[in-house]
Amino acid sequence: MTTNSTYSIAIAGVGKIARDQHLPAIAAHSGFDLVACASRHAEVDGVRNYKTIEELLAAETGLDAVSLCAPPQVRYAQARAALEAGKHVMLEKPPGAGVSEVEALRELASAHNRTLFATWHSRHASAVEPARGWLAQRTIRGVHVRWKEDVRRWHPGQQWIWEPGGLGVFDPGINALSIVTRILPRAVLLRAATLWVPSDAATPIAAELDCVDTLGVPVRAEFDWRHGPVEQWEIDVETTDGLLSISEGGKRLSIGGEPVELGPEREYPSLYEHFHTLIANGAHDVDVRPLQLVADAFLLGRQVEVEAFGG
Ligand code: NAP
Repeated sequence: MTTNSTYSIAIAGVGKIARDQHLPAIAAHSGFDLVACASRHAEVDGVRNYKTIEELLAAETGLDAVSLCAPPQVRYAQARAALEAGKHVMLEKPPGAGVSEVEALRELASAHNRTLFATWHSRHASAVEPARGWLAQRTIRGVHVRWKEDVRRWHPGQQWIWEPGGLGVFDPGINALSIVTRILPRAVLLRAATLWVPSDAATPIAAELDCVDTLGVPVRAEFDWRHGPVEQWEIDVETTDGLLSISEGGKRLSIGGEPVELGPEREYPSLYEHFHTLIANGAHDVDVRPLQLVADAFLLGRQVEVEAFGG
């Protein structure tokens, strides 16, 4: 069931992703009305602005929902405050700085009868559902992920990525894992990993993951933030019926070397459509599998110190 209801919504953490994607997607969705924001240093025109989510929640008693766009280290505290205030909550990826806090939020949302939506924006890229549909009927031989970019271009001045809970190169790499765990028909298990960690950081600048699915099919991922100017966001799936290739982070799909025609790119509009439907149906969408694989890489991985990043 869906409804035509309009829900009032607020954003917490007005930074890069809030401005690039969330504000335009909310403005374009008739089912959401942005009424307020909470950010320590930023304000959004035309809405009520607060410094903290606590101030916002205390003042905005009629608010329906909150979308959390700050870095993951503050996700749990903000989500907890919003759920306890009776708001529906949408979490940017990753849904937490650790797995256990996401499970706690899931229970809290159920206890308060509120919707919790842990988003994975890359799963809404146009290649993902066609790839999943095609792979469902195929015999898979192996999966190879290459997710490489220049950290100085994509994360200028972001210190939180190098701190515990900031995930380092897994901040983009988890997008690939969110696609892999959606398109493959079986669960993926981590077997071994190597994490290259700068001497002045708590999180890796590069990583390699060796995984298998539950039938033993190899799933290998390479993540690197020391990459040149042209990003490589690619997933190859070898099958007995040919190679399926996802590229440009999910914007392009080819099967057997032939490009597949895809719908327009609309990751964040699709996320807000899904959030609206979840609220209207009293439902949740919380899948921790991509974060669990990253946590397993920290558990099972061998850490190798490399030269300081140096800011
Ligand atoms: P960002 O610009 O560095 O941070 C967003 C905002 O969060 C900041 O401007 C800051 O606003 C607030 N914030 C930072 N630290 C905080 C703290 N300790 N307590 C409270 N608020 C804090 O980061 P971003 O690139 O937008 O990324 C935010 C999240 O979105 C991350 O989880 C990231 O993985 C995800 N994401 C990012 C992108 C991207 O392209 N950048 C794409 C998809 C998803 P104030 O200083 O005003 O409080």
